[in-house]
Amino acid sequence: MERNAGKTNVAVIGAGPAGLMAAEAAARAGALVRIFDRMPSPARKFLMAGKSGLNITHVEAGTRTPYGCPPLMPMVDAFGPEAIRDWMADLGQASFTGSTGRIFPKAMKASPLLRAWLSRLDGLGVTLDRRAEWTGWSEDALTFADGTRVTQDATVLALGGASWRRLGSDGGWTARMPEHVTPFASANVGFVVDWSDHMTRHFGAPVKNTGLIVGGITHRGEFTLSARGLEGGGIYPLTPQLRNGAALALDLKPDLTEAEVRARLARRGKASLSTHLRKAPRLSAVQIALLQEFARPLPDDLAPILKHLPVPLRGPRPMDEAISTAGGLRWDAVDDTLMLRDRPGTFAAGEMLDWEAPTGGYLLTACLATGRWAGRHAAAWAQR
Ligand SMILES: Cc1cc2nc3c(=O)[nH]c(=O)nc-3n(C[C@H](O)[C@H](O)[C@H](O)COP(=O)(O)OP(=O)(O)OC[C@H]3O[C@@H](n4cnc5c(N)ncnc54)[C@H](O)[C@@H]3O)c2cc1C
Repeated sequence: MERNAGKTNVAVIGAGPAGLMAAEAAARAGALVRIFDRMPSPARKFLMAGKSGLNITHVEAGTRTPYGCPPLMPMVDAFGPEAIRDWMADLGQASFTGSTGRIFPKAMKASPLLRAWLSRLDGLGVTLDRRAEWTGWSEDALTFADGTRVTQDATVLALGGASWRRLGSDGGWTARMPEHVTPFASANVGFVVDWSDHMTRHFGAPVKNTGLIVGGITHRGEFTLSARGLEGGGIYPLTPQLRNGAALALDLKPDLTEAEVRARLARRGKASLSTHLRKAPRLSAVQIALLQEFARPLPDDLAPILKHLPVPLRGPRPMDEAISTAGGLRWDAVDDTLMLRDRPGTFAAGEMLDWEAPTGGYLLTACLATGRWAGRHAAAWAQR
């Protein structure tokens, strides 16, 4: 790496949101920053996240601690939802809070924010080497697939998790430090169900007003049926329990007690069963289809099965389809500045660290917060 008089050099490997934020923080702290990414263009997963509305943070990201990961919290406290909104506003991107506390840029997409961000980084003197695949270390130098070796005063690794490999992150970095890694697992992912042919016409249908019962607790949230199984925001937060084998059951009338459901079902008259189910307890077509799929032959007393309909799951969809991954670099492998204990001067940030969170803006919040933390500390280390 070229030396620039009076400046220290910080390398950032990975141009996702964590790496870009690390680069911004290190450059603001006075370092000369060079980013490397294996892909021809930066932040492909960030852009993909923006396709369905970039949910960048959540009003409760700092308070509700959905991460279950105490070492992460000082970082999220230092760069939480308010700070992220201010940072976006500085980049010309106004934001709004949705009814469930999720925060989005008004433009909804990631591309205007990314354009403004890259332009800011350019102004800070940060450079980006594209198609630069980091392969490890040779003594103190970073090595790349084309044979290049780069020495630096400090390095931030922001190599991502192990899903959606076509966007750049494949978890291959774990081979460089296997002793410090908790194996990756799918997070925020759909679950496989073997449907009968009768269910085909319900694929794509949203299932509303239904409780998802896992471990004795009923969760509320919408999900959809697809040819592959169950997907969507209601099912994703349950991934940690479901991937560990917990059973799923549905409560098709979560606002009624079993006795109230039974009372509603009492007078069927001459109506067909499906008309009765539609009219008396007011089940939707897709709820009736789920009942027929999993509870046949139907018992005479339908109330218990409406309140607790077991759904046989055949495991999570493949990890490459997951929105995020659990596992990664263990917290005992880094100190409280996010520096690798056995490689002083090398820091880690983003989804490659071992935390997991539901969708809702918590993922990007933790990536940005750890990126900023690692970038600042890398610059300080370089200048020490
Ligand atoms: C479809 C989808 C929708 C999502 N929606 C949301 C959302 O709305 N809200 C939210 O909070 N989160 C969302 N996420 C998750 C979020 O995008 C990720 O958690 C986040 O991008 C992770 O950031 P990161 O910087 O840690 O890693 P990444 O974004 O994965 O970036 C890592 C970078 O490292 C590079 N890299 C990897 N290995 C090497 C190597 N050996 N050499 C050089 N470069 C390398 C990769 O090319 C990549 O550019 C979504 C994810 C997906 C897939």
